[in-house]
Amino acid sequence: MVTDEKPIGVAVLGFGNVGSQVVRIIEESAQDLAARIGAPLVLRGIGVRRVADDRGVPIDLLTDDIEALVSRDDVDIVVELMGPVEPARKAILSALEKGKSVVTANKALMAVSTGELAQAAENAHVDLYFEAAVAGAIPVIRPLTQSLAGDTVIRVAGIVNGTTNYILSEMDSTGADYSSALADASALGYAEADPTADVEGYDAAAKAAILASIAFHTRVTADDVYREGITKVSSADFASARALGCTIKLLAICERLTTDEGQQRVSARVYPALVPLSHPLASVNGAFNAVVVEAEAAGRLMFYGQGAGGAPTASAVMGDLVMAARNRVQGGRGPRESKYAKLPISPIGFIPTRYYVSMNVADRPGVLSSVAAEFGKREVSIAEVRQEGMVDEGGQRCGARIVVVTHQATDAALSETVEALADLDVVEGINSVLRLEGTSE
Ligand code: NAP
Repeated sequence: MVTDEKPIGVAVLGFGNVGSQVVRIIEESAQDLAARIGAPLVLRGIGVRRVADDRGVPIDLLTDDIEALVSRDDVDIVVELMGPVEPARKAILSALEKGKSVVTANKALMAVSTGELAQAAENAHVDLYFEAAVAGAIPVIRPLTQSLAGDTVIRVAGIVNGTTNYILSEMDSTGADYSSALADASALGYAEADPTADVEGYDAAAKAAILASIAFHTRVTADDVYREGITKVSSADFASARALGCTIKLLAICERLTTDEGQQRVSARVYPALVPLSHPLASVNGAFNAVVVEAEAAGRLMFYGQGAGGAPTASAVMGDLVMAARNRVQGGRGPRESKYAKLPISPIGFIPTRYYVSMNVADRPGVLSSVAAEFGKREVSIAEVRQEGMVDEGGQRCGARIVVVTHQATDAALSETVEALADLDVVEGINSVLRLEGTSE
């Protein structure tokens, strides 16, 4: 189809895993994209650090002068795929101020600067889209901002980091410990040379901030998200989880809570948790992502797919690019930032969840009742206790391991209980404290 519409000029900042795929799709699908948009997309330039003629695109498309590229009069939409927070923030602000619409996949930036960037887009009456910033190819931002705009979202819980999900899936299926599963993930290219952002939960926390902001019409930043990583999860935890009919997943949870006084609050948190094998998130394995949304009228919705990778992420970027381009052709804008609810963020201490506590204890009578008493004193109700004898390398009994699963308790009550347990003579060490999600008891 040939259109008479003026072309839409596009600048792509970044030509790495995602940027190169976006450029490929713009070139390979040019005719279809023009038909869907009503005007051709024309690539005006690609921002990179290294301008060279061995990069598979004409060298005159490449530039290391990002500011000059986003300032061009013939650029209508800037697609930012450089990461991390800077220089991306500066480039996006500059583009928005010059009246360009912006599409980005930059979760680290969106989790700290949404307010500033959304305001700049508002001032310029242009679009700012970021579907690819959460869960790669999986549409979750648009369903939350548009499809569910008339409903009330109660909870968004998901597996939003493929690296940690790969590591935990390996530990579960092979019995490997954390370090060898991480080494495997690195060898296969699932973990970066410095895996801190993934394994310590920073990446998932950035995505939780973005999801919570949209779901609850409240600005939530990465600093508001309670965060624990997966580095302390052991193969013994997986064995205990199996015995309890569970697996362990790194979850990002965003929840609307009502206090006893009737006040609404938002909780956003990331931590490894036991999940019953019957829960839909338990069967999300390897590098896949999934997000479960619960809304008042819609009930439970699940989104599942590839949460990272060049082509899958480019799919989400292209969706945003087509939307922004259509708005240029037809007039109008996509949804603006919605932050009217301004709900307070709930500290983790107030959040009720179920817990799994594993500890090594002396192997003698009366231990179990001493341990149970500490839970009782703080009104942390026990749902299940398992005790296993331990043997040393010579096959001799050498103490016991107790695993306690609680009913719902607040983080504050549980933390006090764990401190008191650690001080008991009969407790030789607390092995791990994990939450149990996906059950209602
Ligand atoms: P990448 O492979 O590291 O590519 C980054 C690109 O940006 C490179 O082409 C690099 O240029 C360019 N760049 C970096 N700093 C620059 C600077 N100061 N000036 C000019 N160009 C610069 O990154 P990626 O994996 O494609 O990720 C891009 C963005 O998408 C990030 O925000 C990331 O968080 C997000 N994202 C990625 C994925 C994924 O699976 N990869 C998934 C979801 C979201 P050179 O090529 O010259 O070095």
